[in-house]
Amino acid sequence: MGATVLRVVDPGSTVVDENERRRQRAYRFALDPTPAQEAVLTAHADAARWAFNFALAQKKAANETWRLQVAELTGLGFTEAEARKTAVKTPNAPEVARRWTAWRDNPAADPWRGGICPWWRGINRFAFSSGFRDADQAWSNWMSSLAGKRAGRRVGEPRFKRKGRVTPSFRLHHDVKKPTIRTDGYRRLRMPNIGTVRLHDTAKRMVRALERGGRVQSVTCSRRGHRWYASVLVDEPDVTPGRETQVGPSHRQKNAGRIGVDLGTKALAALSEPVPGLSDEHGLIENPRHLKKARRRLVRAARQMSRRVGPDKRTGQKPSNRWKRARARLSKIQREVTVQRASHLHWITKTLSTSYAEVAIEDLNVAGMTRSAKGDVAEPGRNVRAKTGLNRSILDAAPGEFRRQLDYKTPWYGSTVAVCDRWAPTSKTCSACGAAKTKLPLSERVYTCNHCGFVCDRDVNAARNIAAMAVPVDPGGGRR
Ligand SMILES: [Zn+2]
Repeated sequence: MGATVLRVVDPGSTVVDENERRRQRAYRFALDPTPAQEAVLTAHADAARWAFNFALAQKKAANETWRLQVAELTGLGFTEAEARKTAVKTPNAPEVARRWTAWRDNPAADPWRGGICPWWRGINRFAFSSGFRDADQAWSNWMSSLAGKRAGRRVGEPRFKRKGRVTPSFRLHHDVKKPTIRTDGYRRLRMPNIGTVRLHDTAKRMVRALERGGRVQSVTCSRRGHRWYASVLVDEPDVTPGRETQVGPSHRQKNAGRIGVDLGTKALAALSEPVPGLSDEHGLIENPRHLKKARRRLVRAARQMSRRVGPDKRTGQKPSNRWKRARARLSKIQREVTVQRASHLHWITKTLSTSYAEVAIEDLNVAGMTRSAKGDVAEPGRNVRAKTGLNRSILDAAPGEFRRQLDYKTPWYGSTVAVCDRWAPTSKTCSACGAAKTKLPLSERVYTCNHCGFVCDRDVNAARNIAAMAVPVDPGGGRR
């Protein structure tokens, strides 16, 4: 899958000093742990979840104390506003960590078990502290959302993490004094308390980055489906070898000019001109065949699971072993589909940014990306049926991801991103003569111009308009 740039440390810098510029990059690997290592990974994820819940419980308790004090004060005749000023300190991560250290194997805190978590010894302390910090983050997200200081959707009160309901995951930070997260050759990753875990793929790119002066910041291990993954965050010098240092577009890219992309409603995407190997002769990129096949397997696995005896809360029915096996099979296929989708998306964005000088897309609004396909009253979603269920195409699920990849890949290959306003009449305008229709029902897949008689696939027509209407994004100014 390769690496992903998380953020450029100093994006605004105009003086490019290649020795000074650093960036953080995540290298993600599938792991091949031994059964014993897998048990240790699971124990660490359990500890991180326990730590999050422990920290959250402390915060909730402080919040409850505060509410009781407010109630008592208003009972004594203070106004609500005055009463709310009473201060009860919500314990933050360092305070929670202090309590944890004092109570972890202190029988006074829990006489039955001899401390609140006497099993802490085999676990790396960072698994706990990252859990405490995640609780801080969740709590402050909720608080700022309550105060109306947070953009985007409202954030609810943080909930306890239940086993089986959350992705098992934990984070270990690099100890500066004792560099404990390191590679062992290209195929092994060494992590404190976990040992040397074999990698499913090669760490060559990361090893090179470390040789160039990269420093490991942290590693996040998480289990998705049947697999464990490690994502290693490396702070590295921003020198990119070979063509990645390309300053402007090549001759070939300049000749190719600009390509418009309409993230599809029906096909995966439509391009303003056909690209051999990527699209068909009209410019449409269809969903790849292997994904369609995987989707059929997915449906079959889901059906199989639904026929077996699963858990039932009301009757207390325990899931059967056959059901558990079916669930494992389903989650394995889901994981495969996710990986295939991701690599297909990377291939498309790379091909576009290497072949053209400019890639034009529709600007996205961030709120619209998280909203359901149904949309809301003011703005009903487009093409609801096509977007729901298993028929979703790759890009329907990831328009933001598509933009994100273009944003970081185009500078690597000397190209730029151009965007056009999302309210621009890209689908109703004739890309040949510029005449606009007042109405164009979604069922009409072919655009026929009443003015000049131009006939074209509806989405390809939109892609051509996007190419014509888009304005280049200032690469230094970032996204809008
Ligand atoms: Zn026309």
